[in-house]
Amino acid sequence: MVVAAGSGTRLGAAQPKAFVSLAGRPLLQHAVRRVLDSGVVGCVVAVVPTDLVQQADELLGPDVIVVPGGADRSASVRCGLAALPAAVDTVLVHDAARCLAPPDLVRRVVDALNQHPAVVPGLPLADTVKQVDDEGAVVRTPDRARLRLVQTPQGFARDLLERAHRSAAGSDAPPASLATDDAALVELLGERVQVVPGDPRALKVTTPDDLAHAGWLLGLGA
Ligand code: C5P
Repeated sequence: MVVAAGSGTRLGAAQPKAFVSLAGRPLLQHAVRRVLDSGVVGCVVAVVPTDLVQQADELLGPDVIVVPGGADRSASVRCGLAALPAAVDTVLVHDAARCLAPPDLVRRVVDALNQHPAVVPGLPLADTVKQVDDEGAVVRTPDRARLRLVQTPQGFARDLLERAHRSAAGSDAPPASLATDDAALVELLGERVQVVPGDPRALKVTTPDDLAHAGWLLGLGA
């Protein structure tokens, strides 16, 4: 599942982020092509803004199921889950914004799903991280060696991901941070989530600088 229904206001473009062009193709198309090129995915569902369903359908062709998304990322993932064919028992959730995540990374996550029901790609950090309070005072400094920057695609046994989303949607106020990460919902169920090595090419395009960085990576053959 490639979620692409966000507005992408931080990119400041006229159209939603997944439809912004990178070297002549929308980010969504870059993302879907790399997922299909992995050769390990049987079916792709793209979740897009309601008014762009037809455009995405034409763009992505008959092999991709296109459905409208929801008000936040989690709602969009639930829309994608509802559109999955019944035979699917393993799901990758991928952000269209990580448009250059390479086929290798997709294969690495799928491989690890043979051993684990929940898998996320993650990179070590170069910077030290501080947790701060509302006034900006440092509360603590986590051990950097134990931290990972988590990317997508994230992989799950379908029933586990469905259970995690049902549980989060039914709870009164899940913390805001959980809306951006499917694995966090699985963690809330007390289930183990395995990290596999991520890839710098899976950077998330959020700002105009990120788009320029992605263009540079594409020029290097990403
Ligand atoms: O906004 P952000 O960059 O965190 O979104 C991450 C991914 O989730 C993007 O690919 C975006 O299109 C998607 N998304 C979505 N539906 C929403 C909000 C975000 O599919 N309502």
